[in-house]
Amino acid sequence: MSDTVHNSSKLSRIAELGQRVLDGGQLTREEGLWLFNLEETSDIISLLSWANRIRERYKGNKIHLCSIVNAKAGACSEDCSFCAQSSHYQTGSPKYGFVDPEPVMQAVDEAKQNGVTAVSLVAAWKGLNEGPMLDEVCDRIRELKAIGKTRPDASLGIIKSQHVADRLKEAGLECYGHNLETSRRFFPNTCTTHSYDDRVQTIKHLKQAGIKICSGGILGMGETREDRCELAFSLREIGANVVPVNILNPIKGTPYENNPPLSVMEILKSIACFRLILPRQEIMIAGGRTVNLRDAQSMIFMAGASAMMVGNYLTTLNQPVEKDLQMLKDLGLDPSWDKHGFSDQEEGGCGCGHESCAAEPATV
Ligand code: SF4
Repeated sequence: MSDTVHNSSKLSRIAELGQRVLDGGQLTREEGLWLFNLEETSDIISLLSWANRIRERYKGNKIHLCSIVNAKAGACSEDCSFCAQSSHYQTGSPKYGFVDPEPVMQAVDEAKQNGVTAVSLVAAWKGLNEGPMLDEVCDRIRELKAIGKTRPDASLGIIKSQHVADRLKEAGLECYGHNLETSRRFFPNTCTTHSYDDRVQTIKHLKQAGIKICSGGILGMGETREDRCELAFSLREIGANVVPVNILNPIKGTPYENNPPLSVMEILKSIACFRLILPRQEIMIAGGRTVNLRDAQSMIFMAGASAMMVGNYLTTLNQPVEKDLQMLKDLGLDPSWDKHGFSDQEEGGCGCGHESCAAEPATV
């Protein structure tokens, strides 16, 4: 009897928090952590159903598809413990310099055929400075912008000068990927060659330049639920527009190669918590989806995800794009996100997809 009462009070609290977010309110850190700490399957399923309603409220049935091109691979000076491309570990991952335009154009063509909205140029290096490489990156962004097939995004590491961010903006860059990765507390366990503050400062330069921010993290590196909660609130504070949630795919040769996998319910619950803490943002499920979620991949949308990375990841394989598109079709979800832009992140914006609701771009 007391168990029943206890459980019904937990369900009532989940409903109260879910309803508040649905009505446009926000969670406190203490409330977010309480959700991250839910253990029982029935509580987690209840949370997922609220996350699903909140996704539908702000995103309708639109799903943003994004893919990446590894524009410079391997031999990275940094020691990120999860990464196959770090020169600090023997992983057998490919290594090549900044790619010519042709393979990038080919990737963009393929992405366009598959209904992908944005293709991000990703480079394995510490960061981008003034000089010939910045010129080359800007040329590539201009070319991609000119052909107009998909939105050219970029993820090019740490930016230390406002001028570099401004040059990217001038070249036509709309959105830059730069994960916080985890909480400030846990970050030194993951990387020692640059700091959490280097990452935060990069995001500040990009925002100052008027570039939208794609920033999230990785679950399953050994962080606590408090760290996951802290990451979600940091992303809210920093004003991320797109929040990639990666789930560790342990790479042989890296320090995390033997990390135990998170359970499927723990992953889905974490996605749902991100949705409740970041109700208007794109919550994008990225690396590690197939290997960690297996047959439960379609549950990410019920957990509140509104975006998905398709095609292969930087160093690991994803399931075929056709399978992902079929999954969306089976669920009645629509990948034609591009009509909508970032307008649904504004106060009053919604997931209806009407042109009038997409009239003004969001300010970050
Ligand atoms: S995550 Fe990026 S910065 Fe870190 S080692 Fe990999 S490529 Fe380098």
